[in-house]
Amino acid sequence: MLENVLEVGERPEDLVVYGSFGKAARDWGSFERTVEALRTLELSETLVIQSGKPIGVFRSHERAPLVLMATSNLVGRWCTEEHWYELEAAGKTMWGGYTAGDWQYIGSQGIVQGTFQTFAAVAQEHFGGSLAGRLVITAGLGGMGGAQPLAITMAGGVGICVEVDASRIDRRLDTGYLQRSTASVDEAVAWAREALAAGEPLSVGLLGNAAEVLPRLAAMGVRPDVVTDQTSAHDLRQGYVPAGMTLAEWRQLRNADPQALKDRARQSIAEHVRTMLRWQRDGAVAFEYGNNIRAQAAEAGVVDAFEIPMFVTRYIRPLFCRGLGPFRWVAVSGEDSDIDVIDALALEAFPDNELLQRWIPMARRFVRSQGLPARIAWLAHGERSRLAGMVHEAIARGELTGPIAFTRDHLDVGGVSQPLRETEGMKDGTDAVSDWPLLNALLNAGNGADLVAIHGGGGGYAGYYQSAGLTVVADGVGDVGRIVDTLEADTGIGILRYADAGYEDAAETARVKNIRSLQPEVSLD
Ligand code: NAD
Repeated sequence: MLENVLEVGERPEDLVVYGSFGKAARDWGSFERTVEALRTLELSETLVIQSGKPIGVFRSHERAPLVLMATSNLVGRWCTEEHWYELEAAGKTMWGGYTAGDWQYIGSQGIVQGTFQTFAAVAQEHFGGSLAGRLVITAGLGGMGGAQPLAITMAGGVGICVEVDASRIDRRLDTGYLQRSTASVDEAVAWAREALAAGEPLSVGLLGNAAEVLPRLAAMGVRPDVVTDQTSAHDLRQGYVPAGMTLAEWRQLRNADPQALKDRARQSIAEHVRTMLRWQRDGAVAFEYGNNIRAQAAEAGVVDAFEIPMFVTRYIRPLFCRGLGPFRWVAVSGEDSDIDVIDALALEAFPDNELLQRWIPMARRFVRSQGLPARIAWLAHGERSRLAGMVHEAIARGELTGPIAFTRDHLDVGGVSQPLRETEGMKDGTDAVSDWPLLNALLNAGNGADLVAIHGGGGGYAGYYQSAGLTVVADGVGDVGRIVDTLEADTGIGILRYADAGYEDAAETARVKNIRSLQPEVSLD
């Protein structure tokens, strides 16, 4: 899994997986020592990794995690962008994103599904279930943002995706996630208008800077139906290219005068967000996709930046309350046929999960696999443990090669506190309470996950979140209970968290699924 995140990552030569500097290991020495330790690790041992650097191996027991990690966590008062960068420059920390540092990223497929999920929910709520004949304008075709064009066309829409780096556009064309590219705003608009008139899906990568191109599109009278963004606006030093700069000038200024670069990036983000707000006032559906662009714009004086809602709060939280979230499995065997068999198992086992029934055939048709064969699918509490248990037993019977690693995004019901994203506007005001992901990690480690990680935000995300990830490997050997219990508890604690915050849907899920709650309002007694 460690090698796989680099295989599918954006800059493996720098150990960078995505998010401009989200890494899989602190440095190459750490990578080599980790690989060496993993090669010789016994089942009753636990490897401990601190911010991408292997620290030691301890004797534990067979049900204990093989790997425990804590990445990019700083004590509250010191958890600032400045201090984080000081430590990073001294080689003392690294940022692991959500799924880079704990070796769970499966390439753009994972994010394609989440992005599709969001666009499908937007289509359902605002456009009668389809984006056909609707224009989506967005920016950023990087590690995660590169999934946008495919997700838009899968939902039936027409997307103009602005990207400042031509190599990113080429990569998305190569993987088939993007259909066409141009550096001409006029050409992009003409293609989009043609496709909209025909009701055909289309994705166009438009080479340019969003802070320049979006205001220009608005001035031309273009008004999208949906506007969002996935530039790395969360980081002003390494993530967002200011208007009027070449990539070479940007990289040079990064070292020469980081403060000047930050000021320019923030001003550009302000322009970018002003255009999003203008379109929103004109009737477009606008939402932030979790890149902190509203917070950056607000700091630059765009007082109404937070009128743009966050996609999770708006479209995903109701799913979380049912324990429904981005579950995924990876054929560590390297066998594509393992994924085929599990696709069939899942389709048969969950006939009532409409999302899954719609997604798996589409993924089989459109999503080109990267790295180890893998599948993401949004499964609910109970479904995840059931599928993993079925797979474990199918491996034991020889119907699958295995092993299969089951994991999930940290963006999930139990995995994260991020007050500007997953936990924004919680009913009871507990947006910033990070006890929940910590409890999730403790519970998963106690239950027997094979890998458990506790992550904090780094760089521009320093101080913005606390999250937890897990991986459980089904290999057909040993007790299936370990796998089932771990996955049940992983979503169970998340559902109780939302129930505790006053979400009736979550309380109802706890009741229906027999999650033993001690909270008075959802008590089974
Ligand atoms: P990335 O760094 O790989 O890609 C960002 C892309 O934006 C790059 O290709 C870059 O060239 C481009 N870019 C930068 N400035 C630009 C500008 N001014 N105009 C046009 N393009 C510009 O990052 P990523 O992995 O794709 O993630 C993007 C952002 O979205 C991050 O902030 C990430 O945290 C966020 N995100 C959040 C979620 C979530 O909430 N779960 C999901 C996906 C992405």
